[in-house]
Amino acid sequence: MSQVAAAPQVVLTDVHKSYGHLEVLKGISMAVKRSEIVSIIGPSGSGKSTILRCINALAPINAGSITVGGMEVNDPKLDARALRRRVGMVFQSYNLFPHRTVLQNIMMAPLQVLKQDKAEVEARAHSLLGKVRLSEKVNAYPGELSGGQQQRVAIARSLCMNPDVMMFDEVTAALDPETVKEVLVTIRDVAEEGMTCILVTHEMRFAREISDTVYFTDKGRIIESNSPKDFFENPQDERTRAFLDKVL
Ligand code: ADP
Ligand code: MG
Repeated sequence: MSQVAAAPQVVLTDVHKSYGHLEVLKGISMAVKRSEIVSIIGPSGSGKSTILRCINALAPINAGSITVGGMEVNDPKLDARALRRRVGMVFQSYNLFPHRTVLQNIMMAPLQVLKQDKAEVEARAHSLLGKVRLSEKVNAYPGELSGGQQQRVAIARSLCMNPDVMMFDEVTAALDPETVKEVLVTIRDVAEEGMTCILVTHEMRFAREISDTVYFTDKGRIIESNSPKDFFENPQDERTRAFLDKVL
């Protein structure tokens, strides 16, 4: 577990979100502290991805508020690019550019979006490739890598923007079982360096090992949140127990 400092970094207060007539978030509140590792688990369709998309301003909310480092996400004057610089997001599909090398994929956004100095970005990219244990693939193309390796490149690419918060949405769900572990190890390394992490995962054992706090969602609501030990050993709500019975 990580050292959790006092200042909350991501705060959701009574967030409501609808798609047309379908209300998918029905009053979500959570506070993620700096360096905290939070896992969101729950049945498919319960709103986990939508929570992450709202935090990143990929989906506008209908009511409530979200702040990231004090920045109001639903402020009409929000600079969405500035927000997304602070909040890295990695998805199930890694979407690397197939005709660019690993190094080029990692360097692209800092060079093109942030207009940073090429030598600096390149040095950072090499260091991140070391961190995700793929230094030897620096000049490979995505098609030459396994799914797990591509996902680790996607994580390095996201980290190269120097975010304050990393969000991982079921990043191992599409991987072969034998490559899941290497990606989880990478996430653990990132978390252990003090990065604030919000992860949506079906890897219950991993969530239990790595998290400071586990949130359980069902039908657009947070049903309970707790330390991983209490959450898994002593779930309070019937819906949580039913879910854990199915997945454990
Ligand atoms: P989870 O990640 O927990 O599986 P999601 O956040 O993806 O759940 O979805 C929550 C609900 O919102 C689901 O009923 C889903 O069908 C619906 N939903 C998600 N994205 C959209 C969208 N872009 N348009 C309409 N409905 C959506
Ligand atoms: Mg999802």
